[in-house]
Amino acid sequence: MAAELERFLSRLNAEIRDEADWGMVATYIPELAEVDPQQFGIAVVTADGAIATAGDAERRFSIQSISKVFSLACVLGRIGDQIWARVGREPSGARFDSILLLEREQGRPRNPFINAGAIVTTDELLTGRTPRDALSEIVGFLRAAAEDDDIHIDKSVAASEAESGFRNVALANYLKSYGNLNNPPQMTLGTYFHQCAIEMTCVQLALAGRAIAGLPGAPSVVSAVKARRLNALMMLCGHYDGSGDFAFRVGLPGKSGVGGGILLIAPGRASVAIWSPGLNAYGNSKAGTVAAERLAAHMGWSVFA
Ligand code: GLU
Repeated sequence: MAAELERFLSRLNAEIRDEADWGMVATYIPELAEVDPQQFGIAVVTADGAIATAGDAERRFSIQSISKVFSLACVLGRIGDQIWARVGREPSGARFDSILLLEREQGRPRNPFINAGAIVTTDELLTGRTPRDALSEIVGFLRAAAEDDDIHIDKSVAASEAESGFRNVALANYLKSYGNLNNPPQMTLGTYFHQCAIEMTCVQLALAGRAIAGLPGAPSVVSAVKARRLNALMMLCGHYDGSGDFAFRVGLPGKSGVGGGILLIAPGRASVAIWSPGLNAYGNSKAGTVAAERLAAHMGWSVFA
């Protein structure tokens, strides 16, 4: 299968580049606005342990919101179901940084993958610990999951977001006013911005997703039950208010980030990372979503079949 998959990915890479329908890079984080949108990479790790890649699969990119899956995995490992007292697990149907939704729900974010929910998750990881320790736990989790220590935080992206992340500042202050933030807003936000600024390659991210995909031989960083729950949340909430469209088109759980990355899980079959920095109207990778759709269709991968 590896050679056939490698051939398919190489065709897919050529198609995506020919079509050149890249979308727009995120501009609200100045460092991300500098990234050339005309890039595409994909890495697929299958159940037999083979890795197939195409395009810019070895280039590092800012994982941004994909980090929320891993910070939630850390929190679930630490306090388990207690986190659900602070954050819900329903699709949002609203922008990823909606303030309106948070106000309507009186400070309990709809799910852990919208910004407000992820800020609460990070706040939980921080409780009783320093930002350095909380970040070490998330980066350590990723390193263990990918079996690769060369995973780091891009401090200039974190600083860039800290200078311009006014909506996240508003969300953190709202959460604090509702009593749903244990730490000072600036401290939780600083940690959250650094977590979002982790950079990885597609190969590293696909390897890190093996445990969530339940692939044989994956490092045991998360239990099977928790992996199932992470997949359920990714399916319903992983692409913000584009989650229904993504489920309809791709049929697999995934999590996007505004850096243009997508972690895509074919449970029991494969862990996939796709990167193309231009975004669609929902703030998800435009070419990346097309590639996910074509890969799933070609392989016959769907959680619904
Ligand atoms: N750091 C980004 C923010 O908070 C993450 C959003 C995303 O990747 O979708 O705005």
